[in-house]
Amino acid sequence: IMSSSIDSEPSKIVKGAGGAILEDVPHLTDWLPGLPTYANPLKYNPAYAAVRQYFVEETDVVAKDVVVNMNKLSGGVYFRRAGPREKIYFKSEDVKAAIVTCGGLCPGLNTVIREIVCGLWTQYGVREIYGIVGGYRGFYSRNTIDLNPKVVNDIHKRGGTILRTSRGGHETSKIVDSIEDRGINQVYIIGGDGTQKGAWAIHKECVRRGLEVVVAGIPKTIDNDIDIIDKSFGFDTAVEEAQRAINAAHVEAESAQNGIGLVKLMGRYSGYIAMYATLASRDVDLCLIPEVPFYLEGPGGLYEFVKQRLRENGHMVIVVAEGAGQELMAESMGSHDNLIDASGNRLLLDVGLWLCQNLKEHFAKAHPNFKEPLNLKYIDPTYMVRAIPSNASDNVYCTLLAHSAIHGAMAGYCGFTAGPVNNRHCYIPIPRVTRTQRHVNVADRMWARLLSGTNQPDFLLYKVIIEEKRRAKALMQAEKMKKDAAEKRS
Ligand code: ATP
Ligand code: MG
Repeated sequence: IMSSSIDSEPSKIVKGAGGAILEDVPHLTDWLPGLPTYANPLKYNPAYAAVRQYFVEETDVVAKDVVVNMNKLSGGVYFRRAGPREKIYFKSEDVKAAIVTCGGLCPGLNTVIREIVCGLWTQYGVREIYGIVGGYRGFYSRNTIDLNPKVVNDIHKRGGTILRTSRGGHETSKIVDSIEDRGINQVYIIGGDGTQKGAWAIHKECVRRGLEVVVAGIPKTIDNDIDIIDKSFGFDTAVEEAQRAINAAHVEAESAQNGIGLVKLMGRYSGYIAMYATLASRDVDLCLIPEVPFYLEGPGGLYEFVKQRLRENGHMVIVVAEGAGQELMAESMGSHDNLIDASGNRLLLDVGLWLCQNLKEHFAKAHPNFKEPLNLKYIDPTYMVRAIPSNASDNVYCTLLAHSAIHGAMAGYCGFTAGPVNNRHCYIPIPRVTRTQRHVNVADRMWARLLSGTNQPDFLLYKVIIEEKRRAKALMQAEKMKKDAAEKRS
């Protein structure tokens, strides 16, 4: 059951000096006023005492845009800086924390779990930490598992999530009942856009019931499609692992006459993994992403480019993001918008297999320039990429992310998503990150760099070609109807 959409939810806005705008996050004291704040136990921890200015001031904020136009300097938009507060809301012995992971797998999930547990335990002295098993539905259908530093000690070396995950099953009131019944007062929710929407629904229900419960979101998306934050955890690892698939595709392609290595990578709506994997590899001749509609036949089309590359080099490598070409496929295979998964996400048509089939069929039709047939090798490394543990840089990132979340929760902030904005960790109101999805900006420098590296077509004629096709199809249908009617009459 889906809760109502939060897309139109406004952020809490605080006006600062000089027209600055702080998109602030809720705090427990918004509905539980006048409660005491305690000294942060980190104050007495020798490891931190040596760090001058270890605590983050309540007035510290992070700018959303760092590059601004000199002539249009104004107040700008800011987010609350993440980090330990000198005064905190919770007394350590009163904390009962729960951690849950939802949505698809992503490298680094276990690292985040580990660091929440170890951070709460060692930095704040929290001793009651529970793992909710199997995603949102685990709140009301399963037992919890006790988490402590011993249990999570080496889980970061494993892929997947020790807490398991699932889609669907978000029933806000049942989940909050379970939180209330178990006396949980800090809920750490790790997951993608759908999960964050669910987290906000839980937060709102907690506020409605007047509960002393903090909901902290940790953004997980291997596709890097969550807005506002610089980058999501697992993304680096995914790009790195994708290199192995691209390498294999290149080796296969290079070793055959008219060899094509085709690799399908993750990216349902945003082509970041495909773009960065292409930029990193330099073996890729063509990168197809959801943000750039492409077409097969005619001038400036895919077939023409493939032919040219094969003629020049004898082989080529194509990288395609899973969400690319959906419109084009629907055009030839019929729409299937009605197919959805348990969470309500639209299921995609398989662009990899579709491209394989079309390329093979096209080049099988006798073509004077192609005395030898295509040698096409298709690699879909999706589940292999998702399943690996996170790399070194993601591990460090996951640690910061988890610590940001626990510092915020201990301070009493709630309904936030933790994440880096311009390289500084922030607390961002959840509706702010779920409102829009981040896409590759093809008018931006990064995509231009890719184009200059691959020399691939820009498919700018897409609209013209598709429109022409549509018109021809409509014309044919009209002719057919006319003919059928005439036949009926006679
Ligand atoms: P990813 O897409 O990266 O795999 P995700 O978090 O978007 O991650 P989903 O399967 O879409 O994955 O959602 C995860 C959980 O969030 C599911 O249990 C789903 O029921 C719940 N959920 C999704 N959308 C909403 C929503 N609008 N309101 C409440 N809960 C939601
Ligand atoms: Mg999602």
